[in-house]
Amino acid sequence: RDQPVKYLLRDGELVDYDDARLHVLSTSLKYGVGVFEGFRAYWSEDEQQLYAFRVIDHMKRLIDSMRVVEIDGPQDIEELSEQLLGLIRANGLRSNLHMRAQVFVDSKDGKPEDTGPSTVFMAAIPMGNYFGGTGLNVQISSWARLSDRSMPPRVKSIANYQNGRLALLEAKRNGYDAALLLTEGGHVAEGAGYNVFMVRQGRLCTPPATDSILEGITRDSVLHLARTELGLEVDIRPIDRTELYSADEVFVCGSAAEVNHVASVDRTAIANGQAGEITRNLQELYRQAVIGKVAADRNWATPVYAS
Ligand code: PMP
Repeated sequence: RDQPVKYLLRDGELVDYDDARLHVLSTSLKYGVGVFEGFRAYWSEDEQQLYAFRVIDHMKRLIDSMRVVEIDGPQDIEELSEQLLGLIRANGLRSNLHMRAQVFVDSKDGKPEDTGPSTVFMAAIPMGNYFGGTGLNVQISSWARLSDRSMPPRVKSIANYQNGRLALLEAKRNGYDAALLLTEGGHVAEGAGYNVFMVRQGRLCTPPATDSILEGITRDSVLHLARTELGLEVDIRPIDRTELYSADEVFVCGSAAEVNHVASVDRTAIANGQAGEITRNLQELYRQAVIGKVAADRNWATPVYAS
């Protein structure tokens, strides 16, 4: 922690950062049952204001995740959102942040089929650049992205993360920065914590929601920005591995990852490793959108402090 954070939130109550506990015999820790969200907030030095990005949409997905993996938990999106903003204020945080909301099944001596009682933790922690701002050398993983026939890729179930973790460890071991996973059927799905886009033959493309991806909120933001701000048509269609090798631009995106260009895929350089024009435009538009300066009509950026 590069800046002290005093409090976390447990079921809406402030608790000491080091005192947010879960029982080792809870269903969550025994069987990997839990759901979560990861969000960001951006400090504007000019305005002396902190903006939290798409909090309502993240809370909606949290509730969706609970429904899919069958966890009984809070359903009031507005209340959850207010709690998260209140936590940031309670800690007096005034810098770029990463926030989490996590729902666990906290039954003592838990059974796999327990759906409650649940405990909700929220945290807000200062966070800088996720990838260090450089182009990523990406490996296509030998691990397949988990499919909706076995696990629900479209929601943020904690158990899903073993899949991306194995891919990332393999990639790091082989000297890469990040991994992309293919579907069981061999289409490009996504990375360990980010969706993927490519520009090929002049067209921006991204895999469809039915190709084993998390339906990313950044993906949705990028789609909107590409269409409305850049006037691009976007092809949402299955993508083959070798299309990436011959793409003009490839980038990944996610709440933590933001918009980050891919320099190479399986050591095949993409456009000499530099970020392409569409990627750079989308990067800049995203930077403006997270502080409410672009796509302001969407109300994506919520001011945390009273102005
Ligand atoms: N895919 C996976 C597997 C992820 O964990 C994430 C990060 N939440 C994403 C994609 C990007 O989603 P979002 O833009 O909503 O953060």
